[in-house]
This record gives sequence, C-alpha cells and structure tokens, in this order.
Amino acid sequence: AKAEGRNGVALFESTMRAEVERRLTMERDLSMALENGELQMHLQLQVSQDTTPVGAELLMRWRRADGTHVPPDIFIPVAEATGLIVPLGRWALRQACLAWLRLDAEGSALPLSVNVSPSQFRQADFVADVRTILEETGAPATQLIFEVTEGLLIENLDDTIERMHELAQLGIRFSIDDFGTGYSNLAYLKRMPLYELKIDRSFIHDMPGDANGTAIVQSIMAMAGHLGLRVVAEGVETHEQAAFLAEHGSPGMQGYLFARPMPLPDMIALLGTSADT
Ligand code: C2E
Ligand code: CA
Ligand code: CA
Ligand code: CA
Repeated sequence: AKAEGRNGVALFESTMRAEVERRLTMERDLSMALENGELQMHLQLQVSQDTTPVGAELLMRWRRADGTHVPPDIFIPVAEATGLIVPLGRWALRQACLAWLRLDAEGSALPLSVNVSPSQFRQADFVADVRTILEETGAPATQLIFEVTEGLLIENLDDTIERMHELAQLGIRFSIDDFGTGYSNLAYLKRMPLYELKIDRSFIHDMPGDANGTAIVQSIMAMAGHLGLRVVAEGVETHEQAAFLAEHGSPGMQGYLFARPMPLPDMIALLGTSADT
C-alpha cells in the first residue's frame, strides 16, 4: 500500500509536469500563431424563423503548422490568462470589419457578431482600439454586435456599463452571450445598452424533452420581451427544437441545423445562393 501511494504521488507529479509543459508550449505557439498565419475567422449564419439570413457570428479557428486544429474552448482561455487575447481580439475585430466589407461588396451585407472577452473589454484602451479599427477599415459600427458574457458583469460594474455606453455611442450593439449560465440580474440588465440575449446552447440542447431547459427558454423569452431585447437561440440542431422555438416567441436561430461555422468564401457562396431562391 505504501509503494502504491508513492507511485500515486509520482504519477501525480509527472501528470502535473506534463500539464504545465503542454500549457507553456501552447502559450509559446499561440503567441506565434497570428504572425504565422495560423489563425482564421469562420462565420456561422443566424436565421429568422423562416430561415432568412439575419446575421452571422465570427468564430476564431487555430490550425497549427502540423495541420492539427486546436479548439477555441482550449486556446481562448490560454489567450485570456496570458494577455494574448488583446492582440488576438484586435485582429478578430479587424477581420470582422473586413468580412463585413467583403459581404457588402457581394451584395450580402449582414450584421456581424464578434466575441469580446472580459479581459479584452477591460483593457484601458479598448474603446480607442475599436475606434481605430473602425476608422482604418471604414466598416460601419452599426453593423457590429459585440457578444459579451455575464462574466463581464461581476467586477467593476459601473465602469463596464459606462464603457458599454461609450461604444454604443459609436453605434456598436451588445449581446449577452451564453445567457442563463452565469450571473444575471434584471436591474443591471436594464442599465446596459443591450440589443440582444443569446440563449446558451445547453438549454436548447435539452428541449423540448426536458422540463427545466424548456422553462428556462420560455422565461428568457418572456424577460427579453419585457426588456425589449432581441433573442437568438444558439446550438439549434433539430427540427423539433426549431419548431418548439417557433411556438415560443420565434427567436433568431443559430446552429448546425442551418449552417456550421465556415470560411468567408463559403459564406459568400451560401448567401449568394440563398438570395437567388
Ligand atoms: P460561443 O461564443 O458560445 O460560440 C458558439 C459555439 O457553439 C461555437 O463553438 C460554435 O461552433 C458552436 N455551435 C454552433 N452551433 C452549434 C450546434 O448546433 N451544436 C453544437 N454542438 N455547437 C454549435 P466554437 O467555435 O468551438 O467556439 C467555442 C467558444 O470559443 C465560443 O463560444 C467563444 O466563447 C470562444 N470563441 C470563439 N471565437 C472567439 C473569438 O474570436 N474571441 C473570443 N473572445 N472568444 C471566441
Ligand atoms: Ca458567442
Ligand atoms: Ca454562446
Ligand atoms: Ca459558449
């Protein structure tokens, strides 16, 4: 038993060491990924109840030099912890502006949603960065929606709300992403210049079979109605889910049932064909 315990400790230590090494390697590689051209933005369509395209979300993709893909759920937290999210987020916003201009040139302009991490949003020069990118690209702020999570609302709420108003003044709209999974307070929501709530896909996943998921979706729809906010349901994968949503407030929808995230040229082709029909 004693020997086993020692082995257990040794195994634990080597697992820890491997974990630390893996993370350091990822940090180093991620810091090079941008200049090495390994990052790309994909777009995922959002549709209305009759499947008309109403927008698209930009999602970051990292394809390493060896061809392997690292999921954003893995590398975004690393980018946040190391501060790399600031240059990555700046790049992502620029890509969103350029994508909008491309779509517009193709006659398929759509409002584009961009994810903004709390640590990126809290940078002292975030508003100035946004302004610079808008000026340099010439993209209209009114065509951009910033998706922020409830995590942003935990600290420095007054500063956060003030900054949201500054950006709203430029024409930027705000969406609360993964709504329902975190801290949400109706009183605070009312103080923010919000445009939209995005229902987290975990709740959509459980519908319509699961009573809790269904009740949560219904109450978010009701709350959004009171606050005058648009709703998007994310992670819509089945016709049953879409039909249920149609009966319960008809939010915008995003999910594999309609389209997977895809590179910009594919999105241009998709929008081109949907406009023809
Ligand atoms: P998110 O913002 O909640 O993005 C939605 C995620 O749901 C995306 O995962 C998307 O591919 C996935 N998804 C969409 N429809 C379906 C569906 O029908 N079924 C299922 N199972 N999944 C669906 P993805 O692209 O892996 O991104 C994961 C997360 O990484 C995002 O979650 C977001 O938090 C973060 N992320 C991605 N790109 C960026 C970025 O440019 N900046 C920041 N700050 N975060 C990003
Ligand atoms: Ca999002
Ligand atoms: Ca989300
Ligand atoms: Ca999410």
